[in-house]
Amino acid sequence: MTRLVIVGGGHAAAQLCASLAEGQFKGEVVLVSEEAHVPYHRPPLSKALIKDEAPVLPVLRPDGFYETAGIQLRLATRVLAIQRDAKTVDLQPVHGGAVETLAYDHLVLATGARARRLPGLPVKADGVFQVRTFDDTLALREKLATVQNVVVLGGGFIGLELAATLHSLGKKLTVLEAAPRLLTRSLSPEMSSHLLECHQTNGLDVRVGQTVEQLVWNGEHIAGVQVAGVVLPADALLVGIGSEPNTELAAAAGLDCNNGVVVNEALLSSDANISAIGDCVAFHYPLLARHVRLESVQSANEQARAVAARLCGQPAKAYASMPWFWSDQGDLRLQVTGLWRPEYQSTLKPGPKPGSLSVLHYENGELRAIESLNSPIDQMTTRKLLQKTIA
Ligand SMILES: Cc1cc2nc3c(=O)[nH]c(=O)nc-3n(C[C@H](O)[C@H](O)[C@H](O)COP(=O)(O)OP(=O)(O)OC[C@H]3O[C@@H](n4cnc5c(N)ncnc54)[C@H](O)[C@@H]3O)c2cc1C
Repeated sequence: MTRLVIVGGGHAAAQLCASLAEGQFKGEVVLVSEEAHVPYHRPPLSKALIKDEAPVLPVLRPDGFYETAGIQLRLATRVLAIQRDAKTVDLQPVHGGAVETLAYDHLVLATGARARRLPGLPVKADGVFQVRTFDDTLALREKLATVQNVVVLGGGFIGLELAATLHSLGKKLTVLEAAPRLLTRSLSPEMSSHLLECHQTNGLDVRVGQTVEQLVWNGEHIAGVQVAGVVLPADALLVGIGSEPNTELAAAAGLDCNNGVVVNEALLSSDANISAIGDCVAFHYPLLARHVRLESVQSANEQARAVAARLCGQPAKAYASMPWFWSDQGDLRLQVTGLWRPEYQSTLKPGPKPGSLSVLHYENGELRAIESLNSPIDQMTTRKLLQKTIA
């Protein structure tokens, strides 16, 4: 009997379970997640779930799936440490209790990422929110009725999604981005400025190159944010300043980590008995000839499928997948395939509707990436082509 232990209960872990079941994995599977919920979709947390009248946990697998597949769920339980020599992990219920030691034959780290904290926040900071989990979204929703002025710190994907959602609910929004443009590391300057323009046309107050001078408090509650000497009133402050991979467990166990658990082409860490998948992973991306870490559902799912295939005994294959992701920001649907680099040559392609646009990026005449705003057709026609350049 082989025991596979999965640490984490997000997209990567859920897909791994599904693919193991499909591949008729012979061993025992134990999934340990510190969240109290079964694995669920994270993308709706900053979009539909804020608006839905009665939010329901958007589960990734239907009721009874884990039971039927024979997968043991250990929810609200945190893995505290990995003993690589003994091939065991220490677990503890998140609300306290005895530490238990569980043996594994193979371990999969699917620990994801967490929202980066704003430094210097007081211990009690009422009205300050971050959205990474279902419970975070519920906490934000609970306060929305009493909120009118909202400041969003960070013009990244989650900040812009939340801002567009709250704007559509009639809240008065200001988005403050410290960098001179939106999504500096993820988007080309062309798409970045087009996105900014579209948000501003939609009436969203998005300001780039804005450094927060100080937060203003009314007792323990946020009251405003000072920028360029002016205080913007804020009943709520949403912090979306990026995320950090959950690699502490791996690093403490001596696994190679560098902005993610470093894995080889088979998605194995520096220990051949430990794989890693999803947002917590730094994997080799051949087109840039270096390791990258992505935060994308597609990437988490495809890595999970690749590891499941290996664990089910299929012939080893190097993991090679063209990354793609989407971000719905109100009525703006941003889709990106491939990873943009500043050295690429870029061409603009107006889309079928007013305001829709694709930016195609080439290296020595070869297509490397495409970014589209409200132009899904361009994504559909180029994604397969791009996939061929990597596989
Ligand atoms: C609000 C929001 C909106 C998003 N929207 C999009 C989108 O539109 N499109 C897109 O492609 N991507 C989107 N993403 C990103 C996407 O959700 C992630 O890429 C995806 O969740 C990654 O899956 P994962 O399993 O690697 O990590 P996660 O889903 O983060 O799951 C990791 C899990 O591991 C648990 N864990 C960590 N450490 C331990 C431990 N020691 N013991 C036990 N459990 C542990 C965590 O609590 C968590 O439950 C969004 C993310 C957020 C937060």
